[in-house]
Amino acid sequence: MKPILPGATLGVLGSGQLGRMFAIAARRLGYRIEVYSPDSQTPAGQVCDREWAAAYDDLDQLRAFAAGVDVVTLEFENVSADAVNTIERTTPVRPGPGVLETAQHRSREKSALRRMGIPTAPFAIVRSAREVEDALPGPEFQGEGILKTSAWGYDGKGQRRLASGDDLSAAWQSLGDQECVLEGIIDFECEASAIGVRGLDGEFRTFGPFLNEHRNHILDVTIAPAEQLSDRTRREALDITRTIMDSLNVVGVLCVEFFVERGGRLLVNELAPRPHNSGHLTIDAHRCCQFEQQVRSVCGLPLGSVEQLQPAAMANLLGDVWDAPGGPDWQSLLALPDVKLHLYGKDEPRAGRKMGHLTALAETPSAAEALARQARETLCAGRRIR
Ligand code: AMP
Repeated sequence: MKPILPGATLGVLGSGQLGRMFAIAARRLGYRIEVYSPDSQTPAGQVCDREWAAAYDDLDQLRAFAAGVDVVTLEFENVSADAVNTIERTTPVRPGPGVLETAQHRSREKSALRRMGIPTAPFAIVRSAREVEDALPGPEFQGEGILKTSAWGYDGKGQRRLASGDDLSAAWQSLGDQECVLEGIIDFECEASAIGVRGLDGEFRTFGPFLNEHRNHILDVTIAPAEQLSDRTRREALDITRTIMDSLNVVGVLCVEFFVERGGRLLVNELAPRPHNSGHLTIDAHRCCQFEQQVRSVCGLPLGSVEQLQPAAMANLLGDVWDAPGGPDWQSLLALPDVKLHLYGKDEPRAGRKMGHLTALAETPSAAEALARQARETLCAGRRIR
């Protein structure tokens, strides 16, 4: 297949911060970018050549968008099969429809992982409150679980923690009376992720694994390298990532999120067939970042080096940071030589909304983590780091 060379136009489904950082990486390589989402004046729209504001099920608009670009990739996987098939009639979609169909639907994803022999949290696919009630006392749940909708879930949305004795009908209704996955609660030691990149010819590279800390179900801090994981666990994370990408035949970038149990056993939590928040530190800490790798892989170019140049930690900046008296103290933050600031151009800082992130670079991962946390505090409190 002929590579798509600089000068060509790349299309992106979704126009949030992932699309923005993809567009910036693609522009650096001389590509033109068009993004498509239902919104206008978006983070990606600000930095691309053309912003399409139309519904994901508006097939006429999708056809017109597809006709003007050389390849379509995505930052948002919850796009219907109809939409992807419409684009595919004229323009390749990478990663392709099969990957999206699996990764956008929790029960299909879990079942695919089980078929690949990859460990996950214990789970049952449930279609009514009655089925939840029947499953919950079973040996894999022992009366406790997390109910997650099969469709349209992210960042802890569409989830309810349950215990026997709870009003299961009310919980079921609150999640929209739809198919769900009931998952056993994992008493994990930590959470980690690996980000794989796979080219058109099957060439493969992996970033990570990285260590992730969540707050309120949203990623808070990522640390790399994940020193506290054993060599064996690290190797296994990369092997699992490769097995998943080969078996789904992914062309592009895919993130695998893991629970790490005590003793180092890995369970796959979920897949994201695109660059991931935990990979943002690759922009400042690695030779070729996850976004440039996405450009290279979907264009059929040689993949870049995944070498990490310096230990790093990333801290997300949610809208809450803007609650600081007088607003965020950008000047104090920007005075720190080892901290890099990334803002997504969003003008409404709501609590819990991802507005930007910062990456701290240091001699060791724990020093990077400490600096990232302090830097974020500086932003909130206007206090200087000595
Ligand atoms: P998810 O949206 O499924 O990735 O869940 C978001 C976060 O909720 C995860 O990163 C975990 O911190 C927590 N979580 C999700 N599922 C489980 C589980 N089965 N056991 C323990 N914690 C979980």
